[in-house]
Amino acid sequence: VMVNLCNYLVEPMSSIPQMLAERKAAKTLIDKLARDTEENAGREGEPLPAGKEVDLELNHVTFGYTAGQNALKDVSLRFVPGKSYAVVGASGSGKSTLLNLLMGSYDSYSGAICCNGKELRKVNPDSLYAQMSLVGQQVFIFDDTIRRNVTMFRDFPEEQVQNAMEQAGLLPVVAAHGEAFCGENGNRLSGGERQRIAIARCLLQGAKVLLADEATAALDAETARRVAESLLALEGITRIVVTHRLEPGVMNQYDQIIVMKNGMVYEIGSFEQLMERKGQFYALYTMANG
Ligand code: ADP
Ligand code: MG
Repeated sequence: VMVNLCNYLVEPMSSIPQMLAERKAAKTLIDKLARDTEENAGREGEPLPAGKEVDLELNHVTFGYTAGQNALKDVSLRFVPGKSYAVVGASGSGKSTLLNLLMGSYDSYSGAICCNGKELRKVNPDSLYAQMSLVGQQVFIFDDTIRRNVTMFRDFPEEQVQNAMEQAGLLPVVAAHGEAFCGENGNRLSGGERQRIAIARCLLQGAKVLLADEATAALDAETARRVAESLLALEGITRIVVTHRLEPGVMNQYDQIIVMKNGMVYEIGSFEQLMERKGQFYALYTMANG
């Protein structure tokens, strides 16, 4: 009995060192999470008016994730409401960073980012997220019908839902799929169909700016092209599309092409202008298309 009782004491005590080590390993992570949550919470700010155009402007924006290493250097850009922009450039050139800054993910930039003339740091984050929508490579799909995946279980007028699904090119998918469930994380849908759901969500939400970060990177060329064309066909919404697919017949449809290099805007212009210039974009484009 004595030995048995001792075991009750010794065994839990022997697990203490391991628990301490685990705690120590997790502590930096927990601290980082706490810092980030604190930074994001409690930001009040002025709300953006819903349903109005969003005019975005960057003025000499410099930003780095770590001190002394700038991911964006002196970037000045204006995104005119309703226009389409392609952002191209080598990996690590700062394309994702640009989108993250526009989404208000970081406050520690220098220069100014203005949203309808208001400094982004002073804009209420919730009202910003209602107006700006980011489509990434991974789209989260619930195991439910396509329709409910688009509405995200909220109530919208039927006409609005139909309209969003039509613009996103989802109607043929619904016709083929019907009311069937999409499977765990959408495994009964193709990559292109998942992306279309993300686009429809954004349209239904009434976002005025759609940001896409290599959204079609995981798709085959033909599907990627069709998704890109659906994006280009949207009206009344600013589209900022980061892409490494420089396809003929698609690139020339963007209003402006922004070429990033080493965190800077290296070239900007329409397809024709950039091709005529025979600079960086010309080199990337001719390399991609033989
Ligand atoms: P792109 O999207 O054009 O490939 P990114 O904007 O992701 O490039 O990255 C720009 C630079 O910033 C790169 O040098 C990258 O290593 C760095 N970077 C990106 N994200 C982070 C991060 N979360 N922490 C630190 N450095 C980062
Ligand atoms: Mg990126």
